[in-house]
Amino acid sequence: MADLLHRAELPYDVEDEYRPEPAPIPLPPAWQDGSFRIGIHTSIAGDIAGSLDTAAKLGANALQIFSASPRMWPRGGTRIADADAARFRERRAGLGLGPLVIHDNYLINLASPDRVMRARSIQAFHDELVRAVSLGADFLVAHPGAGMGAPVPQAIADIADGMRQAARGMKFGGLRILVENTSGMGSAVGSRFEEIQAILELTADLPMGVCLDTAHTFEAGCDITSEEGLEKTLDAVDRTVGLARVYVLHVNDSRTALGSRVDRHENIGDGKIGRKALGRILNHPRLGPGALRGRAFILETPIDKPGDDRRNVRALWELVGVDEEHAPKAEAGFSMTRGEKKPLAQRTPRAQRAQRKKVAVAKGRGKARKGGKKVKSKI
Ligand SMILES: [Zn+2]
Ligand SMILES: [Zn+2]
Repeated sequence: MADLLHRAELPYDVEDEYRPEPAPIPLPPAWQDGSFRIGIHTSIAGDIAGSLDTAAKLGANALQIFSASPRMWPRGGTRIADADAARFRERRAGLGLGPLVIHDNYLINLASPDRVMRARSIQAFHDELVRAVSLGADFLVAHPGAGMGAPVPQAIADIADGMRQAARGMKFGGLRILVENTSGMGSAVGSRFEEIQAILELTADLPMGVCLDTAHTFEAGCDITSEEGLEKTLDAVDRTVGLARVYVLHVNDSRTALGSRVDRHENIGDGKIGRKALGRILNHPRLGPGALRGRAFILETPIDKPGDDRRNVRALWELVGVDEEHAPKAEAGFSMTRGEKKPLAQRTPRAQRAQRKKVAVAKGRGKARKGGKKVKSKI
């Protein structure tokens, strides 16, 4: 009784009110430390986790991969086994790589007017999202699609609608979809920044952003080789999609001319954009990590000679003023290709042309490029 009385006398304290524990504020991922993030597209052939070791051996601290074969429609289950995904995430954390960018399958076309193609594309894009989440990816880069004769506004609406259908019921975690600008080949949507802006506006309920490819930008007609041209281009990006939404840049030189609308990547410094202009882009105050923490610069350059991959990574570090001693350590002599000679017929059309030219030059026919420097391969 006395106890009851005693309790009744206690005044009500607002601090006694039940309040749930506030949710912890998630820490930013380690790769958003304000440093330059330089990456390269690496191969998943053999073992998907091997792509991480490849990136590290090439001296990169970020990477891009395909999460399945990029030129095939997946046959049946394309989900990554939980154990493999866990091993991948663990290995990535161990190597300190980030961001992890996944590029979507080349066959996906969310703008296709063909119903079967569209259904396949939506399903495949959904599978891309599922795999990206299971691997713990930060970004999924997607080509917008090609209208194949459909009017551009229709193609844009179909792309946005397709992405929203593919994302239905998804828990994104930290994943963001990045729409990549294109060179405007054929009926490809996305060579004008206004088109990408329109896609982003129609997908406002999804975590979206933009991937800017230097080669595509140049091939679509933006002269990023001059200081004024770069300023104009950055203003155009900012006015439309907003520079703050450009999370990844694909840093590629271009084999084709300004405004060619033909997408051919070239090694850093060997193309029509050139080393100086690419250096200006990487060091631009509106593009560097000082403007957006964790913004990544990813190479998608060809490997004509073994070691081109490693040399392109080094070239980017050099362009941002990080010498070999301070950059992530590359493994001497390492390359994704070992330079074994496949029979001519099994090589890519591009490698076949290069080989035929080499033979022609060796036989005294054909023209050597730049004093024959390119002709004698130093494998
Ligand atoms: Zn791409
Ligand atoms: Zn690209």
